Amino acid sequence: MRLILLAAPGAGKGTQAEKLSEHFGIPTISTGAILRHNIQEGTELGKLAKTYIDGGNLIPDDIMIQVMDDRLSKEDCKNGFILDGFPRTLAQAEALDASSIQIDKVLNIEVPDEKIIARLSGRLECSQCAATFHTEYRKPKVEGVCDNCGGKLVTRADDKPETVKSRLAVYHTQTEPLLKYYSDKGMLRTAHGQEEIADTTAEVLKALED
Ligand code: ATP
Ligand code: MG
Repeated sequence: MRLILLAAPGAGKGTQAEKLSEHFGIPTISTGAILRHNIQEGTELGKLAKTYIDGGNLIPDDIMIQVMDDRLSKEDCKNGFILDGFPRTLAQAEALDASSIQIDKVLNIEVPDEKIIARLSGRLECSQCAATFHTEYRKPKVEGVCDNCGGKLVTRADDKPETVKSRLAVYHTQTEPLLKYYSDKGMLRTAHGQEEIADTTAEVLKALED
């Protein structure tokens, strides 16, 4: 299965990607995780990416396309993959089409903007393993501490309210047009993001059946 996950920032794409990875036994390739890893390591890519990400803007297409070209040619992608965060613009989608990589399906997880703002403003991320939690919806067992690895939970710099607004605006103008692009190709499937993670996963798996 070669799958693209589309959804607004904060719609729970990353969480569903993890579930789908387990279900299908294929890796999730998350652009956000790749970029944040590079920022942490202080690589050239990381330094460049940080200026865009902290402002809620997208990394330029040519750079993103190069990064994904490299990543998707690795051995672990041979039997399929789940793309979380790519493509995010029409130019990226067209570059993917022009490459030798064949995509099977594209899944959209629908969540209204108001819900997204509420979710992102309480989101916590583990500074070590990148697992996500929430101050209200997905509380860690011990406040401020990751259930998985014991790492410190932090608010991402791009989850600040002003940045969240611009990320949503960027999503609506740059990424939303991809829904029509893939629906015209007959590749789009849709599920609704719900309160319970497991309910969303059930709908997602059903949507991917046909
Ligand atoms: P979520 O945490 O819900 O996935 P998100 O999708 O906005 O929210 P990430 O996917 O983690 O966040 O991406 C973080 C930032 O990395 C984006 O705001 C953007 O600046 C940059 N980025 C990620 N993927 C791409 C891409 N395909 N093209 C350009 N920039 C990207
Ligand atoms: Mg993401």
